[in-house]
Amino acid sequence: MNHPQITALSDHVYFVEAPTSGRFPFCHGFVFKGSETILIDAGLGEDLMREVDELFHIDTLLISHSHPDHIRSWHILSDRKLLIPKETTDAVMDLEALGAQYTGSKETGRHWAKVIGKPFGISPLRQADMRYGDGDIIDIKTARIQAIHAPGHHNDHYCFLDHVSGTLITTDIDFSSFGPWYGNPEGGAKAFMNSIRKVMALPYTRACSSHRPPVEGDASTLFTAFLQAFDRQKMEILACLGTGKTLKDIITLSPFYNNKFIDIKIQNVFEGHMAAENLAILLEEGLVYEDEGVFVPRQ
Ligand SMILES: [Zn+2]
Repeated sequence: MNHPQITALSDHVYFVEAPTSGRFPFCHGFVFKGSETILIDAGLGEDLMREVDELFHIDTLLISHSHPDHIRSWHILSDRKLLIPKETTDAVMDLEALGAQYTGSKETGRHWAKVIGKPFGISPLRQADMRYGDGDIIDIKTARIQAIHAPGHHNDHYCFLDHVSGTLITTDIDFSSFGPWYGNPEGGAKAFMNSIRKVMALPYTRACSSHRPPVEGDASTLFTAFLQAFDRQKMEILACLGTGKTLKDIITLSPFYNNKFIDIKIQNVFEGHMAAENLAILLEEGLVYEDEGVFVPRQ
């Protein structure tokens, strides 16, 4: 395969490197060639999606979860078989409803559609041809791709293990320096930790995330570092409390985004949810107490 952004990982599995090294609003793609040819995720951008289709003749588009960078250019393959998780809600078919799901209210949902959904060219999905669930195996003879539900990042977040090549797609267990992301209202730090522990124990021979280059062999160092990043995030929240802060104070301080997200209103939602998740853990661990909405570190 002579294309600068396409690498064969095995006889029938290909890594497609997205523009900007797979940073948002892009994500890497994975092609599995067999009795049907499958592309995992639609975050390559329109041009590269078309090139991949010309080279491989994609039969099936498999969406890992309903985040914008994973569905974005799906319309390029709108006449192929579309497979989505059984947990994906119908909000995925309407940009404002999707925005509301990401941000927790209709009003911020409309705002999200205006400042992120439309400008980034995110296409809402149509009704899927098939749904898959946890443990389902997509058998295309040369690959047997098992779907692994990995909630916490998002309710409908899935990873995939091909039992033939040993390729593990870790999706948004993405080993990024930001660390785990669970900023939507349905995101959960603890659920995400459990998902990571489950996925890292699978019998894989290479680990491929949606936003980093594939890793051959054992990736436990990366998984462990990614898990430890939850602690780092928690300690950042604890450190920013000083002698006591409200959730609103923390959102203004912006310990996660450092006020660098593209839109302040959406940033506040994501920052607020991730901060609240960490405050709940700090309260549970007894490192913090709450006094009328003020979170105070215990001495
Ligand atoms: Zn995601």
